[in-house]
Amino acid sequence: MLRVKGSARHFWVAVAVFVLLGNGLSSACADSNRSPGSSADLPQAQTGSSATATMKEDPGVLLVRPTFSPTAAQKERPNVLLITVDTLRADAVGAYGNPKARTPNIDSLAQDSSVFSLAISPEPQTNPTHASIFTGVFPNRHGIVHHMASKLSDRVKPLAKLLAEAGYATAGHYSWISFDPEYSELERGFATYQRHTVDRPFPADRKPDFYEEYLDSKANVTTDGVISWMETGAKDPFFLWIHYNDAHWPYEPPPPFDAMFDQCLSCIDGSLKSIIRIVEGYSPSPEEAAHLRGLYDGEVAFVDQQLGRVFGGLINKGMLDRTLVVLTADHGEGFGEKGLWSHQEVLYNTALRVPLIIRYPGRVPSGSVGAPVSLTDVLPTLLELLGMETPEWVEGKSLLPLMLGKEDGNERAAFSQLWDARKVAVTYQGHKLIKNRQTGAIELYDLSQGFLEGTDLAGEKPGLAQSLEALLDAWAAGQGMGP
Ligand SMILES: [Zn+2]
Repeated sequence: MLRVKGSARHFWVAVAVFVLLGNGLSSACADSNRSPGSSADLPQAQTGSSATATMKEDPGVLLVRPTFSPTAAQKERPNVLLITVDTLRADAVGAYGNPKARTPNIDSLAQDSSVFSLAISPEPQTNPTHASIFTGVFPNRHGIVHHMASKLSDRVKPLAKLLAEAGYATAGHYSWISFDPEYSELERGFATYQRHTVDRPFPADRKPDFYEEYLDSKANVTTDGVISWMETGAKDPFFLWIHYNDAHWPYEPPPPFDAMFDQCLSCIDGSLKSIIRIVEGYSPSPEEAAHLRGLYDGEVAFVDQQLGRVFGGLINKGMLDRTLVVLTADHGEGFGEKGLWSHQEVLYNTALRVPLIIRYPGRVPSGSVGAPVSLTDVLPTLLELLGMETPEWVEGKSLLPLMLGKEDGNERAAFSQLWDARKVAVTYQGHKLIKNRQTGAIELYDLSQGFLEGTDLAGEKPGLAQSLEALLDAWAAGQGMGP
């Protein structure tokens, strides 16, 4: 189980320590891409080692919760802060049971939050899942089925639009080109919509094959933009979306994060060149896979450090407890588990199981929720917490009854798909079924076997596999996927 005891005081102290250390160390920053005032040094006093157990014990657990009532300030409309950390798999976070993780700020946030231990991405691609978070529907409904190749449908109204119409000041600060209006139309409803990327040196006489050849993302640069907006553009109530892209490949964290987890000198590096080698068939050794994972974990630690700056900014303004905070990710990442890398063609937990943390003292109890939930549930949850009506076209279901202990979650199922619906998956009652819709092949996993799902049990439990397959087929048909 996740650790469930925590207090607002702990979070405040942790962030205050971070802010003090971060300011003191900023002059030592060695990354030439970093803006003045940012720091790449992690506070040494904080680690993720306080988490007490692994995730495999969580499914189905629901805690008894105390009664909560809103404070006077919270009876007014709160600010809303939505943080999406691109490519962050759940087991990369200390609060999700990784004792080696260096995520003190996320962990501190989690201590005062409802923490969903089985949050599932609807599709392991960036734009489709962000659209599901923003609209509360699956990709076939919102229209962004394929990353950067399809755009948001007019049939849905995204969160920023709903909140703007309710009087919120809206701002989106994102770290990758895919969210530009020409590739997504996800800008709808944002009064401020700003990309924060860093140019890489690239020869003018050659055409790039990948955006990553000439663009990079750096969490400190994004955070600088966010803090600047908070200083000059934030008006109550606000809706702020922050997207970090550092954990996405290539895995090239700045010092000291680059050597924080693994220092193999003979291994392939985390550059785009190495990623292309793997995509083209190179099979990294176990040592190299561990090295790439270490670089990825370094990127996650870097993002966590920058989140400390964001939380510190809110604390300094006295805004934190008047802000409803949601932290999640669009998808995870594979590092050779079951022979698979990256995310967009993967329906295993490495690519689908993400953190989901919701903090709103007085309204949202702290603790762990083990029921399977979908990122399509984020929008209706936020709207219910804000006292707003959920549009009838929303497919997700508010998580508030789960957080308040009024629902056991036993009937909740979380569905996922690949962009072309070639494969689909369902997580339900402690099990997961993956179906290849082209061949009819199925895989069944007992989630108590751990984050990596263990061995395929489809042959051993044909009755269970059949009932989950029927559930999955019905969902796919409802999504218009055809036979
Ligand atoms: Zn992504």
